Amino acid sequence: MKILFASSEVFPYSKTGGLADMVGALGKALAEAGHRVGIVTPLYRGIRESFPEIKKLDWWLEQPIADRYVQGEVWTLDPEPGLTIYFIDKPAYYDRSDLYSNGGADYADNAERFIFFCKAVVHLARYLPWQPELVHAHDWQAGCVPMFVRHQSKTGWGNAPATCITIHNLAYQGVFPPWAFSLTNLPSDYLNPEGAEFYKQMNCLKAGIAFADVITTVSPRYAREITTEEFGCGLDGFLRDRRAKLFGILNGADYSEWNTTENPYLHNPYSARKLSGKAENKQALQHELGLPEKADIPLFGSVTRLAEQKGVDIQLGALEEMLSSNMQFVLLGSGATIFEKGFLRLAQRYPGKVAVRIGYDQGLAHRIEAGCDFCLMPSKFEPCGLTQIYSLRYGTIPIVRATGGLDDSVRDYAENPKGADGIKFREYSARALTKAIRKALAVYQQPDLLKRFRLNGMKADFSWEKIVVEYEQVYKIALKR
Ligand code: ADP
Repeated sequence: MKILFASSEVFPYSKTGGLADMVGALGKALAEAGHRVGIVTPLYRGIRESFPEIKKLDWWLEQPIADRYVQGEVWTLDPEPGLTIYFIDKPAYYDRSDLYSNGGADYADNAERFIFFCKAVVHLARYLPWQPELVHAHDWQAGCVPMFVRHQSKTGWGNAPATCITIHNLAYQGVFPPWAFSLTNLPSDYLNPEGAEFYKQMNCLKAGIAFADVITTVSPRYAREITTEEFGCGLDGFLRDRRAKLFGILNGADYSEWNTTENPYLHNPYSARKLSGKAENKQALQHELGLPEKADIPLFGSVTRLAEQKGVDIQLGALEEMLSSNMQFVLLGSGATIFEKGFLRLAQRYPGKVAVRIGYDQGLAHRIEAGCDFCLMPSKFEPCGLTQIYSLRYGTIPIVRATGGLDDSVRDYAENPKGADGIKFREYSARALTKAIRKALAVYQQPDLLKRFRLNGMKADFSWEKIVVEYEQVYKIALKR
């Protein structure tokens, strides 16, 4: 198949979270499976410097935005056979310090930045010589793509591609005041309750859901959850009406990036067969973060965006209670100031037990995954979650709340005593998480059980090669519509 992706972030060019990992890895896996794949993404600050092999395409990009015409350029890179990355270059929109926000506030022109991006994607879909058959849009930033494709197919685009939209997180919908719709230059009948309108506002993700041929999300359980009021973020009814074309496919891990045997970020390679090497990574991590280098103290860790979704409040509550026990905790994260301060205070109050690093650090993320005994992910909701999937491969036991992809990817002792590879809890409360941490401490005291959990996790296979088949099936359904 010939597939064009549209995503506002793609690893290794740009990343704020799991979206980048997923798009980069799925694009690569589809190309390796023999498909022709293109990925369209904005050219953010620094990409050209980090990837000097990037080339300017001889392409004139000019799109109407309300009553103006906006020009841009297209740059490309071919990281491997069958895969081309198309970067949309428009410095006034994308040459900024961050992707979506600065100092905690979203950029005021985000609607314009990403509506222009969607127009550029559709323009490429229409005029690229290799003629994509399917356009796969990711999240609200690419949400208008299916709507533009639908409109152009009704107004003269004879062989318009099929469309798929993936919801990576329904909590982010790209909702803007109604005037933002004028940036699309579409007839006003697209802004109605069956289209892009959401309580009189313009909703970019809803535009994608309304007009895509198929809708996917990143785990089977989350696909069910988002059709309920509790998790539907106001779109549950809209999604229930489209249940027949809504599919949940669990994300995978790119093991060429996330592995313990050939990983430049790690101090010492290790594997299921040579698990002893994990202890050296633990000691190196304790050293790096200034914690006492003790092998027998259970080390807990988190690598996360510090957002409410991630269960930061119950995590702080549970740690408060548990830190009197013999344990250490490390955190790498950034996000809401109130949560950053909360963890920094914890580190001040428990020196020698807690180490906190605020910021974004790819190498440290790998070293925490490798050096810890347990990884905490007490999310309130979690579409898929990749951190726990990486933890499993690193022999680090995930402690997760049984929601969304966390529930789909981790096996608890109560569900499967022989195959258990993590600890799950259900109730969203500090008390329930405290209990789960107590269970972890009990597992830690039993070396055989601890080893079994670790080996089960390391054997679990979330490789993309297997998952690609599921996307192929969904794409075929889209092509038939
Ligand atoms: P989400 O996409 O909701 O943030 P996921 O678990 O799906 O959560 O993906 C998070 C990804 O971002 C993982 O690859 C994780 O290692 C990475 N990550 C999160 N916070 C940081 C950070 N502060 N530094 C480095 N990597 C981070």
